[in-house]
Amino acid sequence: MNDASADPSLVVQGLSKSFPTGGDPLRVLSDLDLELHSGDSLAVVGPSGSGKSTLLQILGTLDRPDSGSVRIDQTDPFELSESGLAAFRNQKIGFIFQDHHLLPQLTVIENVLVPALAIGKPSSGDLQNAQDLLSQVGLTQRLGHLPSELSGGERERVAIARALLMKPTLILADEPTGNLDRSTAETITALLLTLQASVGAILITVTHSETLAAAMSQRKELVDGKLV
Ligand code: ADP
Ligand code: MG
Repeated sequence: MNDASADPSLVVQGLSKSFPTGGDPLRVLSDLDLELHSGDSLAVVGPSGSGKSTLLQILGTLDRPDSGSVRIDQTDPFELSESGLAAFRNQKIGFIFQDHHLLPQLTVIENVLVPALAIGKPSSGDLQNAQDLLSQVGLTQRLGHLPSELSGGERERVAIARALLMKPTLILADEPTGNLDRSTAETITALLLTLQASVGAILITVTHSETLAAAMSQRKELVDGKLV
């Protein structure tokens, strides 16, 4: 391992993805390249149907490309076994969705600990880390609440804390502020960037919000299956 390999990185080369239709396959991603490093934040913009979510699914290793390569910290996740891939995803990638995907029967702190639960019993270090993250997102008073007892902005904060728990290389957010009012959206954006910087992660956010896009260090549009 040389020094360069210690720097969290995402390198995407020649990524293509089509979906079958009744007629010709629908080519959604076409020979797409992308390289990001620790601390980078990228807003991906583009009209509905341009392939933003498809790109995030593949970068998140939840779907496979037809061709091309994805390397996260010098590893091609699609070369791993199924169980290896699940462990890699849990360790390296944090997801934040518009509809937050919290588990309704679990409390706030339990939801944040889900990534640690996936690999065994959470350690006292995991618990401390979860409490610290919930403090940073301003939810210390809500650890035992259920998601149904929180506002939309509070749920999104829980989702952010959960995404950060494993100190991932890559944070992927699909319209994270899409359901929030403007001032809540701005607060959440600022929180996300602060926490991303604190763990040195790479952040990729799909957004329709110009405010959110402007807060990121880079902005790219998905056009004809490529990022420009
Ligand atoms: P965006 O997030 O930019 O709105 P998507 O990535 O969700 O776009 O979708 C891009 C295109 O691919 C759309 O035309 C969509 O209908 C199509 N698509 C997405 N997922 C599938 C799938 N699993 N099967 C078939 N078509 C899909
Ligand atoms: Mg989408």
